Amino acid sequence: MGEKHTAIVLAAGKGKRMNSAVQKQYLLIHGKPVLFYSLNVFEQCPFTDEIILVTGKGEESYCRKEIVEEYGFRKVKQIVPGGAERYHSVYEGIKAAADCAYVYIHDGARPFLTQEILERGRQAVEQYGSCAVGMPVKDTIKVVDQDLFAVETPTREKLWLVQTPQIFSYELIREAYEKLMRSDQSGITDDAMVAERMMQKKVKMVEGSYKNIKITTPEDLAIAELFSEK
Ligand code: C5P
Repeated sequence: MGEKHTAIVLAAGKGKRMNSAVQKQYLLIHGKPVLFYSLNVFEQCPFTDEIILVTGKGEESYCRKEIVEEYGFRKVKQIVPGGAERYHSVYEGIKAAADCAYVYIHDGARPFLTQEILERGRQAVEQYGSCAVGMPVKDTIKVVDQDLFAVETPTREKLWLVQTPQIFSYELIREAYEKLMRSDQSGITDDAMVAERMMQKKVKMVEGSYKNIKITTPEDLAIAELFSEK
């Protein structure tokens, strides 16, 4: 096993909540596709050795031509097709990664990743073996029952919203995902959950940024235009 740091950038989602004919990762922010921005941060990052791009089935050559070649991303070494759910896509990326020390799993739909976030993540994963980027919640959060009655109000100081990248030692996350694929778990929405459930691994939270949003619905795109103004 080398000391390689590999990024897995996910862009295989269908983006149904965007209500757009064009998938959200290819929509433009200031004339560049959403996916360009996070790929560019990994491309410029001094300790990222390579990038694996996970795209929708059949979109590999579009991505290679229109994004990887168009913008000259030299660190993108593989473009692999994803799967039905986000965790299937992550697993495809993990299998493609091999021989690395750490993987940085990132939503291609989060264009506002920064070098500072990556550096904080690198330090944490080297110390703790796993970390997830996030931020303290600003709002009070209610747990509700099936009739939408509030049943619990967790202490706000203990609540963080989770972003990406989520960063792991490769051996750990590969084993976690292999166990997951053999089990019948449902409701897997992030990678830290997989490490927690499958490996009983404690995941360290690292400060991301309130700007590190995921482009999900049309209003997010309007916010993204504002954030990316110079
Ligand atoms: O659907 P959601 O907004 O949670 O997607 C988060 C990220 O995961 C997006 O970048 C999306 O492209 C990716 N994804 C994927 N494969 C799926 C579903 C989502 O790569 N099957």
